[in-house]
Order: sequence, then structure tokens, then C-alpha cells
Amino acid sequence: MEQSPLFQDIDRYLINLWLSSCTEHSFEAGQVVIEAGTRTNEIFLLLSGELRVHVEADGAESLRTLEPGEIAGEVSILTGSTTSAWVTATQPSRALGISREELTQWVQQSHQFSLNLLQIANHRLHSSNLHARHQHREKRKLQAIAMTDGLTGLLNRHWLSLNAQRFQGVSVLALDLDHFKSINDRFGHGAGDQVLQAVAEQLRQGTRPHDAVMRLGGEEFVIVVDMSRGDGDPLQLAERLRVAIEELHIPLCGDEGADQLRVTISIGVATQARQESWEQLLERADQALYSAKNKGRNQVQLA
Ligand code: GH3
Ligand code: MG
Ligand code: MG
Repeated sequence: MEQSPLFQDIDRYLINLWLSSCTEHSFEAGQVVIEAGTRTNEIFLLLSGELRVHVEADGAESLRTLEPGEIAGEVSILTGSTTSAWVTATQPSRALGISREELTQWVQQSHQFSLNLLQIANHRLHSSNLHARHQHREKRKLQAIAMTDGLTGLLNRHWLSLNAQRFQGVSVLALDLDHFKSINDRFGHGAGDQVLQAVAEQLRQGTRPHDAVMRLGGEEFVIVVDMSRGDGDPLQLAERLRVAIEELHIPLCGDEGADQLRVTISIGVATQARQESWEQLLERADQALYSAKNKGRNQVQLA
């Protein structure tokens, strides 16, 4: 036990004296040593075997494994709070229980012991911070996936629901491919998907990075343009996009019965009035789109 980081640079005689008053515990493989959310009166110094520290009762999300010489349960003893993680034996293990009173006594008797304890606690804090940063990054990744349309990589309806309320003075382009159903019918769903991807790419290329380009579902897209960024006229942007899509020759991979396809798009444009809600704005853009369809498609209409 002299090898334990807890006893580093402490006189062997003192260590033996201290340890003689501790109680020994045995744990079977799979046995819970510390239950999260409870109060403990002792820390465990592992003598043999292995313990695993995890955040969920079912054992998911391992924080670390503890080897002989390492301690468990120090956080709640030192902070006086309930335990923050689960500790389970992964194999038959033995540990010494060190009570709060004993720990306090040892701290008072040896500066070196206090220093060792401080070092262990700070190592744990450091690795917990790393773990938290990792978790945060993973969470951001998942959030990004949840806000992305899987087929085209554009933003999706979920992104819109999270961001729509903060739009102010924006312009909205509601876009819908013309006679898209006939492309699916004639060349198959796979060809339809390729058309959607090519159109999405064209919309991305034809807008600025801070414009929000979304696929709301099917062959319906929405672009939100922040007019305060001083970039001209949304009608001109819509017309540019319409022409760019009209001029697209979409190459098809696979045996789709055609080498390339042409498509057109209809676009409704509306600019947010003072106090106008997002829902009202989108409704006006949709009505303009409807009118573009009625007037023969492949055109832009202003609300
Ligand atoms: P309109 O000019 O009036 O817009 O006619 P349309 O055929 O484009 O419109 P309609 O709403 O009748 O058809 C849309 C089609 O889009 C029907 C559906 O099968 C197809 N669709 C919806 N989602 C997807 C998708 O993810 N992939 C493919 N390939 N097709 C889709
Ligand atoms: Mg359509
Ligand atoms: Mg549609």
C-alpha cells in the first residue's frame, strides 16, 4: 500500500499504524460498492481486484476504472454531499474502508497526506472536466444531426422550429419543384432523390453562408434571407435561383432510364412586416408560391 498515491512520501510506519484501524471489505464481481445519490461515511482504498466508476445505474457511461492503491468515494466525503457516481466491482475485490474521522485525523497528522489527497482530487476534477468537454462536443454533434435533413444536408424543420421566433425583418422564399411527382413516376424514387440533392446543392451555391436554406419535406424548400445584412432584393435572388435551376442538367447515377434530367421550380417571396409573426410570414410566402403554380409554374411571385 506504500505504492498508493494516497501514501506517497509518507513514512511506512505511520501508514501501517493508520491502516491497522481500518475495516476490510470484500466485494463479488458485479457488486455495487457505492450507489449514486446516497451518503457514505467512508472512502474505499482498493487492495485487490478492480472497481469501475460509472454515471448510470445500468453501468453505461464508464468514467474510469480503479486499480489497487486507488480510492473511491472521496468526493462525497470531502464535499459532504451525496455520492455523484456509481462504483461497481468488475471482479472479486477487496478494499479498506477509511472513515471520515480517520481521514480527518490523517490530514491533521500529515501535511504530505493532505497534499496527496489534494492531488488525487484535482486529477479527478481534471479528468471530469475532460469528460464533460467530450460529452458537450458529442451533444453538439447530435444537435447538428437533428437539425439537418438527411438526404440533402440542408437545415430541416426542427432547425426552423428552434430559430423562427428570433427572425426579424427577414425575407422568405418558399420554393417547390414543378411536377416533381412525374419525375418519381417516370424515373423512380432514386432519380427523384438525386434531383432533390442537385437542387439543394444549387440553392446552397446560390445563397450566402448566413442565409438559412431548408428542406421542409418532400420537394419543398424554404430560404430565409436576413435583409439587414444588406444584400439587395429577395425577388432578384429568387429569380437568380429559378434560372439557375432551370439551367441545371442533373446527371443521374445508376440505371434510371435517363442520363440527365431538367427541372423547374416555383417560388413565392414575402418580406416580414413590422410585428408580423413567422407563421403569418410563411403563410404569405406559401400563398405567393401557390399563385406562381397557378400562373403556370417556373416563376417567382411576390406576396
Ligand atoms: P407541383 O408542380 O404542383 O408542385 O406538382 P408536384 O408533382 O411537384 O407536387 P406533388 O405534391 O403532387 O408531389 C410531390 C411528390 O414528391 C410526391 C412524393 O412522392 C414526392 N416526394 C416527397 N418526398 C420525397 C423524397 O424524399 N424523395 C423523392 N424521390 N420523392 C419525394
Ligand atoms: Mg411540387
Ligand atoms: Mg409540394
